Amino acid sequence: MSISGDLFIGSERVRSPQTFRAANPATGAALEPGFSIADEAAVNRACELAAAAFDRFRELGIEARARFLEAIGEQILALGDELLERAHQETALPLARLTGERARTVGQLRLFAAELRLGGWLGVRVDPALPARTPLPRSDLRQRKIPLGPVAVFGASNFPLAFSVAGGDTAAALAAGCPVIVKGHPAHPGTSELVARAIVTAASGCQMPSGVFSLLNGESYTLGTALVGHPRVQAVGFTGSRAGGLALMKIANARPQPIPVYTEMSSINPVLLLPGALAARAEALGKEFVASLSLGVGQFCTNPGILIALESPDLERFVAAAGTALAAVAPGVMLTAGIHGAYEKGVARLRQSGPVSLLARGAESAGKNCAQGAFFSVTAPDVLQRQELLEEVFGPASVLIRCRDESQLASVLERLEGQLTATLHLAPTDEALAARLLPVLERKAGRLIANGWPTGVEVSHAMVHGGPFPATSDGRSTSVGTLAIERFLRPVCYQDFPDSLLPSPLRREEVATRPHRMDGVYQVGVTKP
Ligand code: NAP
Repeated sequence: MSISGDLFIGSERVRSPQTFRAANPATGAALEPGFSIADEAAVNRACELAAAAFDRFRELGIEARARFLEAIGEQILALGDELLERAHQETALPLARLTGERARTVGQLRLFAAELRLGGWLGVRVDPALPARTPLPRSDLRQRKIPLGPVAVFGASNFPLAFSVAGGDTAAALAAGCPVIVKGHPAHPGTSELVARAIVTAASGCQMPSGVFSLLNGESYTLGTALVGHPRVQAVGFTGSRAGGLALMKIANARPQPIPVYTEMSSINPVLLLPGALAARAEALGKEFVASLSLGVGQFCTNPGILIALESPDLERFVAAAGTALAAVAPGVMLTAGIHGAYEKGVARLRQSGPVSLLARGAESAGKNCAQGAFFSVTAPDVLQRQELLEEVFGPASVLIRCRDESQLASVLERLEGQLTATLHLAPTDEALAARLLPVLERKAGRLIANGWPTGVEVSHAMVHGGPFPATSDGRSTSVGTLAIERFLRPVCYQDFPDSLLPSPLRREEVATRPHRMDGVYQVGVTKP
């Protein structure tokens, strides 16, 4: 199956005279074919089609939407090795990793299908009429959630499958009933096209309205700016740089009708090594830390970019073990020349910073766009004076912050910005200290981890992959797991409606079939026989 370079505007394939090519990051070689660049007319067409599809798509019913999500998963699997090979050429990510990521992508589509069928996401609440209430009767009030409208999704560079064209944001938005327009990441347009083809095939097989999905490509900010500014777009999902996320938030807020933008941007994911844990297993922790740091060449949003610990001989054992492990880590090719360049700059900034000392580096390589791991250390008082030492360096670099006492440790935690994760390594003897630190960690992060590592994010019901700014633009949500659907829904209340006009989930005989709240009381819901 050949890759055409076309744009996918609903069920139409569109070619434009302006094209760009992807590059193989391992060699720098340009990859064929040229990919059409979406102009203003293409943005308009995709957005108008999405708006036209919206009411039909959301009215199709839960089962039809669930089947559509499952069909997308099946079509992605049907692409076979071509998808993995193209993704490997465009990202330099190993085939084994991409195979796992494909399973995760399909798994999350299936999970959203299952979530749809459970029905709790509809948020049904019924406050029955109280005609005899005094001094005033109460109306019959029924609430459910409806989708927001067309959603613009920005494919992320670091997960070409799981956070890209059919990734978490797309799955959540489609599950909610929102048509999706994807702005493909220019680093992997061939991968994006193959996945777009899977979605379009699934859409046609499931008789979805044409504008339910579009893929637009481009390699300048013009496209993303036009998309977020388009009046038909009602919400945005983004994973990428802080500068990019902030720019999109600004555009969305400056619209005549501002819209919600869910950006996932920067996080350094602090890991606290408490004294009892270091005493019990310093060497093992050192090795585990390096494994987490170097996973995917450090290009995970949950990469452990900061370690925080009290000075002690056990901490030195940890440092020595981590140094030895890091020295043995072969350098890996980063996703793009730009990301590699930003990593090198970040490492150089830390190296040249007076108070920072270099503890260890990964193995050297002269390979193109290869990142050599880096492990630094700095004292808490220095970090407290220089906020820039707490900025994300995207890649396999991490800084150990040495604290003299608990008060310094607490001050460093207070200084941290919002995070996706915060991790505690603790032994039973550390629990009192951990309990004192927990309130700060809860304020700072979306996911708290005990005795684990932040890389590796389960796609499930209880997962939170979010956190206070700048980890995300809105810490009340998550971009991984079924709760992600909430970002694209809003509640509507129906007062004194006759049954015949109520949407089906709120009709008197349907309500009892799903989880709901009856007069405030939680009810599980009993499926109809
Ligand atoms: P990026 O530069 O933020 O780009 C992501 C997407 O947003 C691209 O499609 C890009 O469009 C678009 N975009 C960026 N800035 C924009 C703006 N001002 N206006 C309109 N559209 C804009 O991210 P990246 O290319 O993936 O990597 C660059 C850096 O992002 C990395 O070095 C790293 O620091 C960070 N990053 C962080 C994470 C994370 O999970 N925290 C993940 C990936 C990357 P075009 O490229 O077409 O112009």
